[in-house]
Amino acid sequence: MIDTVLNPLVVPPFGPPATQSNGEHPERAARRASIENSLLAAIPRKEYLRLLAGFEPVTLTFGEVLYDPGQPIRHVYFPGTSLVSLLTLADGHLALEVGLIGREGMVGIPLVLGHNASSVRALVQGTGTALRMPSAPFLKEFRLSPPLQQELYRYTHALMAQISQTAACNRFHVVEARLARWLLMTRDRMRSAKFRMTHEFLSHMLGVRRVGVTRAAASLQDRKLIEYSRGSIRILDGKALEAAACECYRIVRDKHDGVKK
Ligand SMILES: [Zn+2]
Repeated sequence: MIDTVLNPLVVPPFGPPATQSNGEHPERAARRASIENSLLAAIPRKEYLRLLAGFEPVTLTFGEVLYDPGQPIRHVYFPGTSLVSLLTLADGHLALEVGLIGREGMVGIPLVLGHNASSVRALVQGTGTALRMPSAPFLKEFRLSPPLQQELYRYTHALMAQISQTAACNRFHVVEARLARWLLMTRDRMRSAKFRMTHEFLSHMLGVRRVGVTRAAASLQDRKLIEYSRGSIRILDGKALEAAACECYRIVRDKHDGVKK
């Protein structure tokens, strides 16, 4: 039995987050953050150095909305330690996570495919570093750089595979296995076994009622796989959590995005 949810698109108020500069010297911060992003790390050095000049290092904040459906994409983002959820709509107001983007990818893939508007909401679900570039200079760099094109097309395919797998996962797999999968995907991208999370936020991410999330989290906690307290979750036993997750976690990790812990 699949839980359904009547969540509004507008996620819980997390204050008025804003993209902020880190305060670190921009070029030094850009170099550090670009190494954190594995897509940028895969680009030949010459191309990478040219790109670096156009990047602005930013901190993305939990709850911040980068794009909304139908809105123009003004910047692309290469996450370092930050994590961004893609949420889709049903009936104009139901929100459900369909993709998760961290240090393996880029936020703003429609631009690469020739569209300048997003079809989904891009919501920051993990505070951390990212590099951003306005869309116009990014597209110029993209057209000039075959290695960047190659990496972004490869990543676009990986993201499409993740989105397809997530569609099947949302339909066929039970909440507890999906929660385990989601926690592992988050851990791998943030490189941390502990992260901030509320049941309410999770209910939006998984598209289930809050009570369903609470039940699933309590079960994982009873089995000593995770510990949940005061809006944060810690993974206690990654191996056992992997065993509790549905196969979608391993399929996406091993065949598509290559994100390892
Ligand atoms: Zn699944």
